[in-house]
Amino acid sequence: MIRSSVVTFVSAGMLSPKKRDHVLARQQLYLNYGALSLATKLQLAGRDVALFHGEHRDPEDLFCQIRDSGRFPSIYPLMISIPSFYALPWAQAFCKLAKAADPECRLVVGGRWVVGPDPEWLRGLLPQADVLAPGLSEGVIERLLTESPVLKRVAEPAPGFTLNHLLVDGYRRYQPSVEASRGCGMGCAFCEERDIKVEKLGDAATLAASMALVGEQYNGEEIRPYLQASMFLPTARWASAFAVEMARIGLNMAWRTETRVDAITTQTLVSLAEAGLGVIDLGLETASPRQILAMRKADNPDRYLRRASELLETCRDHGVMAKVNVLLYAGETEETLAETTAWLDAHASAIAGVSVGPVIAYGPPKTADLLLDDWRRLGARPVDTTSAASTGITTMHLSTAFPAEAAEVASLQLSRRFMDEDAYFELKSFSYYPRDYRRADFERDVAASDAAKLPFTVRRRDAARVDHDQNFDEANLK
Ligand code: SF4
Repeated sequence: MIRSSVVTFVSAGMLSPKKRDHVLARQQLYLNYGALSLATKLQLAGRDVALFHGEHRDPEDLFCQIRDSGRFPSIYPLMISIPSFYALPWAQAFCKLAKAADPECRLVVGGRWVVGPDPEWLRGLLPQADVLAPGLSEGVIERLLTESPVLKRVAEPAPGFTLNHLLVDGYRRYQPSVEASRGCGMGCAFCEERDIKVEKLGDAATLAASMALVGEQYNGEEIRPYLQASMFLPTARWASAFAVEMARIGLNMAWRTETRVDAITTQTLVSLAEAGLGVIDLGLETASPRQILAMRKADNPDRYLRRASELLETCRDHGVMAKVNVLLYAGETEETLAETTAWLDAHASAIAGVSVGPVIAYGPPKTADLLLDDWRRLGARPVDTTSAASTGITTMHLSTAFPAEAAEVASLQLSRRFMDEDAYFELKSFSYYPRDYRRADFERDVAASDAAKLPFTVRRRDAARVDHDQNFDEANLK
């Protein structure tokens, strides 16, 4: 058997989309920047490296592509990254294919959220894996190619190099990522980052230089990088230095990031807007004081909501699109949801869109059980008590008022209250749709999707109108 000397990373895809399955949901791309960080590190050490994303493709289809390109089989292990529990069934299918084609192939499987909580549990679901890497693996990635070091869950700082997007198969379809910092540690009860200490942001000039380098990787074409940080926590001084540096190097680039609603001051936001911040994902989660406390989101709900108001208004006044994340939580009632809805109504002019969903316990029993006990005390119960063990995903009946089905209906209603198709397209195309995905593509996919599952209001257009628009677009591009 002829073996290549390429290190191939595969980011596991999904057999069906995370939330609701429809044509539109299958268009979203998620760059696995954790796997890209490892791939970049190996490439900087002189290895020949490639990263493939499973997306919503058939595992066999991607496996054949890698094999036919001559990269598989290789003298090196196949590096499989599982970015979420939703990607686990895809990874299982892919690992089986790889082992069947080359029983000698070593499979190194990583993905800190999925492998980290309980590697033994995962071994039972993924017996083909030769090595399970439970943590961030930059420090051991070289050794993973040749041996099986003893691996622990470790916190590693954001790497000091720029991600090399050229290593990603079809990289021009993906919006790039720039990693700003890791960790959070703010203690929100439902979140996997609750106990992982936040890392101090690096030097503003270095981050700006990294964004410029990513721009060069895309030959100066328009890109909208996502500044990755679970908890983007710049000070006013840092943000001002970042704006100055972006202007000094003449980088006119719109970018996106996420943070808490009470993490940054209005002055900081103003500087970030000057530095190109175009969209900010804000984890409001709820505007019900009772639910804020139940989530352990903040211990002073009034102050939390006051800061959220100020931040949203500053976003609106400085041209930053604010996408607000809302979480229907354990113990949710008609009254708590009405509080959140009323608060959002009062801030509607400052909200570009909302993303709403019921809380879900991620992880095997070892980690999910703690959450489930907490949520039971708040009046919730799992839809299926065996699903943590079989899938790592436990959906919830939130309360008597909001069993799982009613929570899904309420989530869709709340999303649609604040988002129409224009807002949705604008937010999704900023970061998640392929860079060449146009409005006409979107209209076609909306028309082909089940309207009952779409999280935005649709002015349904008939097929003839869509065809007309598409022909019109094509004619204008010629
Ligand atoms: S602030 Fe966000 S990232 Fe941090 S623990 Fe809370 S939900 Fe998680």
